[in-house]
Amino acid sequence: MSSTLAQNVAASPRRGTTPAPVVAVSATADDSAGPHRVRLNSAYIRALEIAGVVPIIVPPLSDEDAADAIVTRADGILLTGGEDVEPSLYGQPRRKECGPSNLARDTTEIALVLAAQRHNRPLLAICRGPQLLNVALGGTLFQDIPSEVPGALPHNAPDDRASRVHPVKVEPGSRIAHVVHATSLSVNSLHHQSVKDLAPGLEITATSPDGVVECIEWTADDWWAMGVQWHPEEMTDSPESWDRGIFKAFADRLREG
Ligand code: MN
Repeated sequence: MSSTLAQNVAASPRRGTTPAPVVAVSATADDSAGPHRVRLNSAYIRALEIAGVVPIIVPPLSDEDAADAIVTRADGILLTGGEDVEPSLYGQPRRKECGPSNLARDTTEIALVLAAQRHNRPLLAICRGPQLLNVALGGTLFQDIPSEVPGALPHNAPDDRASRVHPVKVEPGSRIAHVVHATSLSVNSLHHQSVKDLAPGLEITATSPDGVVECIEWTADDWWAMGVQWHPEEMTDSPESWDRGIFKAFADRLREG
C-alpha cells in the first residue's frame, strides 16, 4: 500500500525532466465568512492543473515590493475575478452602482502587473483581471454596464456560471484568435464592469455585439499579456475547446520561459 505513491511518481512522465511551470494566482481576502480569510474559486486551480501548471496563491499583501519577489520567482501571473476596482485608481468619482472595492487587493495586483511587464513574465487576466490590467497601465472602466452603456446585453448571469450566454466577435489575426482557433465564440458572462478608455500599449481584440470589450492584449512582442472578460476557468468540461485553449496557450508560453 505504501508503494502506491512511489509507483505513481516513478510512472510520471515528468520525472527527470523540466519541472512544471509555476504561476502566481491572485486571490482576495475578506471577512464574508467570519474571520478575515483568503479566498479563491477552485475552478482556477483545476483549469491550471489540467493545463499542467502549478498554482501558487497570492492574497492581497501589505508590501508592494513583494510583487518583484513573487514575479522573479514565478513563471507567470494569473489575475482572477472579484471585486470592482477602486474608481479613484482610474481618476473617476465612485458611482452608486459601483460595488465594494478591496484597495489592498487592487494595489497588490497593480504591482504584480507592472512587475510582470518589467520582468517579461506572461500574464493571463480573467474578468476583473482585464479591468485591473487596463487600470494598471493607465486605462479606465465602465463602473456599471447597465447604467452606462445604452442597449447593452445582459452581461451578469451568475445563476449558471458555465452557460454560454452571449456571442463574442474575435479580431482575426489577434493573439486570442490563434489561441481559441475561432473568430466567433459564445461565452459565459459574470460581470457588470468592463474596459472603457484603453491604456496605451493595449489593443481590443474581442467584443460582444453591444460593443462591450471582451478581450484585451498587449500588442508588442516584448510581453505576452492577455485578458478575457468571460470565465474560461468555468468551461473546463465544455464540449467546445475554446476556453481550454486559453489555458493551454498560457501554459505553452510559460514553458517557453
Ligand atoms: Mn460579457
